[in-house]
Amino acid sequence: MGYSQSQQGLLRKLPKVDELTQDLSNKAPHRVKVTVCRRVLDDLRSYILSSPSPDPESVKYETIKRQAERRLTSLLRPSLRPVVNATGVVIHTNLGRSLLPKEIYQAMLDVAGRYSNLEYNLNRGERGSRYSHVEELLCELTGADAALVVNNNAAAVLITLETLARDREVIISRGELVEIGGSFRVPDVMEKSGAILKEVGTTNRTHLRDYESAIGEQTALLLKVHQSNFQIVGFTKAVSISELADLGTRYSIPVFEDLGSGNFIDFSRYGMRHEPTVQEVVAAGTDLVSFSGDKLLGGPQAGIIIGKKALIDRIKKNPMNRAVRIDKLTLVALERVLRLYRDPEQAVKIIPTLNMLTLSWDELKSRARRLRRRLRALKLPGISIDIADTVSRVGGGALPLQRLNSKAVTLSPKERTFSAIHIGTELRKNEPPVIVRIEEGRVFMDIRTIQDEDQGIIAKALASAYARLVSSQV
Ligand SMILES: *Cc1c(COP(=O)(O)O)cnc(C)c1O
Repeated sequence: MGYSQSQQGLLRKLPKVDELTQDLSNKAPHRVKVTVCRRVLDDLRSYILSSPSPDPESVKYETIKRQAERRLTSLLRPSLRPVVNATGVVIHTNLGRSLLPKEIYQAMLDVAGRYSNLEYNLNRGERGSRYSHVEELLCELTGADAALVVNNNAAAVLITLETLARDREVIISRGELVEIGGSFRVPDVMEKSGAILKEVGTTNRTHLRDYESAIGEQTALLLKVHQSNFQIVGFTKAVSISELADLGTRYSIPVFEDLGSGNFIDFSRYGMRHEPTVQEVVAAGTDLVSFSGDKLLGGPQAGIIIGKKALIDRIKKNPMNRAVRIDKLTLVALERVLRLYRDPEQAVKIIPTLNMLTLSWDELKSRARRLRRRLRALKLPGISIDIADTVSRVGGGALPLQRLNSKAVTLSPKERTFSAIHIGTELRKNEPPVIVRIEEGRVFMDIRTIQDEDQGIIAKALASAYARLVSSQV
């Protein structure tokens, strides 16, 4: 197939890779510059060859150079970086779940850049245990005899089942064979652990006698899984953890509850729904309990397993434990967060996840007014800036039915030249990116998840987004 005169003409105008590379102002390594220039020119070449009448503007040297510089900048920018969460989803798994208080990430920095007593017993001057830093603290806070921490709660469930129930049966209610999101499905995790699933009851109703009649020679464990992200309502019956614990005691079969989120704070004290606390679940006689570090606990990503010492010891000795080992930076953050829980009222103030969940209506209103004032001061004639009622979500598969009334600062385009979606897209291009919600043709920025220092960032982001939107429409 031959190419047209105009295509060939444009191809001849493309600069040489070397020429373009020499001309890039950025101080990137030469090899990176060459790669970028090659890619830009390759893309242009395929564009020219694939379009019947390519745009002559595309081969202008300045255009090509600008494109190469833009690509170089984006290539050199670290990929994982902070964003502003204006979505109102507090434990937003895609946006990193929980934020750590400043004093805690300072502690992480200290341990990151220096040697530490990670697995060293300073009293005896010999090898120590990585878990020693949090085990006693976890027992003190929850009333359990022993504790172990791993990479995340999925790993906690996997290693617990593998240790106690491989090739044996685990009894679980059909109402609890849940999918948490991503790829965590209880039946799949059980299969991976080698445990044999023994489902009892129905989706909406499971009775104690269902568990009891399923118990046999092969039963290794009675499992309860927190429904986390949904609730079955109507004609329902579930067996409480204390009933199950009693049954386990009668038959000498351990009872394990995967609590999912796991909270030390009783949220009903803050006007929210009651969610059984870890302490309550332990007090009910549950042999093993596992939960996440970064959901309602508000700490770093981790999986926490607490319970009877003999069982925890077996899990600790499982070779798989090495594969799901907690990292030292996580461990230092987890220890510091746990320490805060010794004073629960302080914890609610200091731990950002808890603080955001329990913000008062007055505080939400005054923060929203402050942000509105700040954005109105930008004097953007094409956008109306207001405050609206909205509902935030807890997220992270926790408290799915909890309504969190909140306030949002809204942006409504006044003209038809750009839409709320355009504003949202431009805000996302900011550095740091600002992530918003679009509803009913308006940008919603839920004040609940916007941190104090974010207000200034949002103002700057909106000013430059607006400038780009206005200039691109002419
Ligand atoms: C979230 C959740 C998990 C997975 O926890 P991660 O810490 O995200 O690995 C497991 N089980 C339940 C019930 C959950 O809600």
